[in-house]
Amino acid sequence: MKRYLILGSGVAGRRAAKAIHRKSADSEITIVEEQDNPFYARPMLGDQFGRKAGTMQSAVREKERLSELGIKFKTGAKVKEIRPHDQSVLLSTSEVLFFDKMLIASGAKTARLPCDRSDSSSVIYMDNLGDIQALGSKIDSVRKAVVFGTSYQSFGALKGLRALGIDCTLVIPEERVWSQCLDVAASTILEQRLSQEKITIVKQSNIEFIEQDGDTLRSVVVTGGIKISTDLLVVAAPQQSTFDFLNASGVDTNRGIIVDAGLKTSVQNIFAAGDVAQLPTEENTQAGWLRAWKQGNIAGENMVSGDVNVTYDGIPSMRTRVFDLDLVCLGLSGAEGEGIETQSGDYPYPEMPYVYKKIIYKQGKVAGAIFLGDVNEAGAVEEWIRKGTSAGACDKQVLDNMFELQYKSSAAYSVLCPVCKFHMQIDKDAEEGSIITCPACGIDFKVERLSNGALHAVPV
Ligand SMILES: Cc1cc2nc3c(=O)[nH]c(=O)nc-3n(C[C@H](O)[C@H](O)[C@H](O)COP(=O)(O)OP(=O)(O)OC[C@H]3O[C@@H](n4cnc5c(N)ncnc54)[C@H](O)[C@@H]3O)c2cc1C
Repeated sequence: MKRYLILGSGVAGRRAAKAIHRKSADSEITIVEEQDNPFYARPMLGDQFGRKAGTMQSAVREKERLSELGIKFKTGAKVKEIRPHDQSVLLSTSEVLFFDKMLIASGAKTARLPCDRSDSSSVIYMDNLGDIQALGSKIDSVRKAVVFGTSYQSFGALKGLRALGIDCTLVIPEERVWSQCLDVAASTILEQRLSQEKITIVKQSNIEFIEQDGDTLRSVVVTGGIKISTDLLVVAAPQQSTFDFLNASGVDTNRGIIVDAGLKTSVQNIFAAGDVAQLPTEENTQAGWLRAWKQGNIAGENMVSGDVNVTYDGIPSMRTRVFDLDLVCLGLSGAEGEGIETQSGDYPYPEMPYVYKKIIYKQGKVAGAIFLGDVNEAGAVEEWIRKGTSAGACDKQVLDNMFELQYKSSAAYSVLCPVCKFHMQIDKDAEEGSIITCPACGIDFKVERLSNGALHAVPV
């Protein structure tokens, strides 16, 4: 019986475990995870501020599903060292586990602030459920919070904290929000939406000093010596891939673990997937739920087959929801300069101030896009980017839908995409069993009706 070892129980690790089970049901699959209470969806972390300690319901169900498949797990056990010479790993519990094939799916963590020498429970790194729950009832006395950085994590934190009525200040090192992938127009719309939520944004600033009194946080001092009084500091960026356990393993790394398109590392029988993996086509590490989901599947399949049967051909992308605004950035979304042309219609229309769309062409070919507030055509445009479609060959109907002002007849129904978390509009005639495709991530789902009459989507 082949032994498959998976480091990390995030979405990449879990998808890989299921893919291995699907292809080779009688193999031994073990997931090792350092957190005590894993299997939750990380994008839901922001909603956990103010909730009681305990396991999230979705995590309980996920754990049950994995157990039913016979997948074993060791939680609360950190992988300390990988030893390729005898195909083993050393755990923090001093246990040694042997494998025939291994997947590293250890994700990314928020880098520690250089000025943070505190152990204060009022300084939170937006990484795991335990840290947020450790705040406990202390959150009830929090009136003001500072969130540092631009990332999925920071917007998740802001949403959770504002829902509790906490005054929030977002401190970012950049000159505008998400300048890495948004243009000025899109950043401006997003900033307007944040200010509607009464969030103050302090730009071009780092946290220089944390002022505390015992365990009580008093203020943070940012660039220029400006003091911001606060009860809580949530650090949400930058994110760094986690691979401190590689030591002398021989696994090649750059900003992440280097993998080929089949997600193999430089060491035989060791694969990597998700936020920790870096493809040769990627200058930097890429984070994202959908990317990790897809890579987990592919790695699992290739681990069983032994050959590289399936390859990952995703383009760099970002998919998220900032409060009620869906946001998708694809490919060279922020590109400017020579050889770059753009098309953005007359956005933002006064009638729809929070909708913005843009296509970026490089040397005449579709190379990137931004969708804010309405992401309906994102799936089609992603396909154009992947295929290198030239400007003249783009489907006119899609372009019209994208750039002409349209009052969409309200489809009345929407379901939440379980993969990328978009609200997919579905035809009002849709019924149980209908197949729908998420416009943002392109994955097919079957519509199911819950006992309360609501519709939801499950992957086909
Ligand atoms: C608040 C929040 C909001 C987000 N919102 C979005 C969003 O809107 N859209 C989007 O695309 N993405 C979003 N993300 C990012 C998304 O969750 C990640 O891209 C995705 O979870 C990556 O999956 P992964 O399996 O690669 O890694 P992870 O989910 O990070 O899982 C890695 C696991 O490995 C474990 N681990 C690490 N090192 C060790 C070790 N040495 N031993 C044992 N276990 C170890 C970790 O504890 C962790 O459980 C969000 C993340 C957060 C936190």
